[in-house]
Amino acid sequence: MAGGNAIRGTRVGAGPMGESERGETAPRIKVTYWCANGHKTSPSFACDAEQPESWDCPRCGLPAGPDHEAPPAPPRNEPYKTHLAYVKERRSDADGAAILEEALSRLRKHREEV
Ligand SMILES: [Zn+2]
Repeated sequence: MAGGNAIRGTRVGAGPMGESERGETAPRIKVTYWCANGHKTSPSFACDAEQPESWDCPRCGLPAGPDHEAPPAPPRNEPYKTHLAYVKERRSDADGAAILEEALSRLRKHREEV
């Protein structure tokens, strides 16, 4: 017969009940923000914390403000790179590689001559 049930040294329910959950004592306040696209978001903040004047809209990423009538203006973003810009970038990379290759081969040739 093997040893049967080993009783482990852990106690279930050690410690006072109900104190394990944190943040229960801090009251929270819900602040509603609207973005320029009319999306509404209501994050909640601890009452004693300062509520931010604007909040990033989780749906479109625009800044949202507490004033429904006057949401913050969308920030002016850098224009998206066009496909052509990407191609140009890639080409200059290729040019750079070619120049490097040329320089290396020149260097190798130079070494062979010496
Ligand atoms: Zn939005």
